[in-house]
Order: sequence, then C-alpha cells, then structure tokens
Amino acid sequence: MVKQGKCKFCSQIGMIEAADEMTQEEIDKEVTLQCKCPEAQAFATKEYNRTSAAAFIKDAFKNDEYMKDYMTHTLDAVMNEGADKVQVVQKRLLDSKTIETKVYTMTLNNEGTLIINMKQSYSSKEKF
Ligand SMILES: [Zn+2]
Repeated sequence: MVKQGKCKFCSQIGMIEAADEMTQEEIDKEVTLQCKCPEAQAFATKEYNRTSAAAFIKDAFKNDEYMKDYMTHTLDAVMNEGADKVQVVQKRLLDSKTIETKVYTMTLNNEGTLIINMKQSYSSKEKF
C-alpha cells in the first residue's frame, strides 16, 4: 500500500510503498532516507554505516553471543549518544599463565565514518 510520510528534517512529503504493519514513525524514517535535503542525506549515510557495522559485528562475533550483544550496544552508544570513541577490552585466560587481551576501539569521525579497530596481544607471567 502506498503511504504518505514526511522528512523529519525538511518536512517534505513523500510517498512510499509500505507494509500494513509499518508505523507512521517508520514510514517517516523511510521517506527521510529517500529525501534529497542535505540533513536527510547525512542521516541516510549514517544509517547505512550503522547497518553495515551491525552486520559486521554480527558476523565477527557469531561464536560469542556475549561479545556480539556487548559490541552491538556499544555501536548504539556511539551512533545514538554521540560518544565519539568507545573502547572495549576483553581479557581471556588461555592457560594457567597466558592472558589474551583484545582491545576494540570504535571511533566515529566528523564525516560519519565508523572505524572499528581491533588490537590483540598476549602476556604471560611466570611464578617461581
Ligand atoms: Zn528532507
């Protein structure tokens, strides 16, 4: 069904093919994503980056449910709450003396590009 929504930045009205269960808010979001005003274009880029990053996280942490959830929440914090840099540190004991450390850094730059950096290191200690 064709429904009417409006861009949440410039209020321009647009029509989209929408499923019955879509709320007005979802329709407005779709119309905004298709609008050509600069604010809407910036919003569309950010949404695209968020979707791509969420898909990357889902795949990269497919074997680790806890980290997948944690990184997804971290992504939301970076994208929604304006935290421009968040660091997640994961430590794991590999054997009785070796610790694996993974540091994930999510950075959102001024152009709206999200960068996820991963640094992995090992440390061990000997006791005598
Ligand atoms: Zn607009």
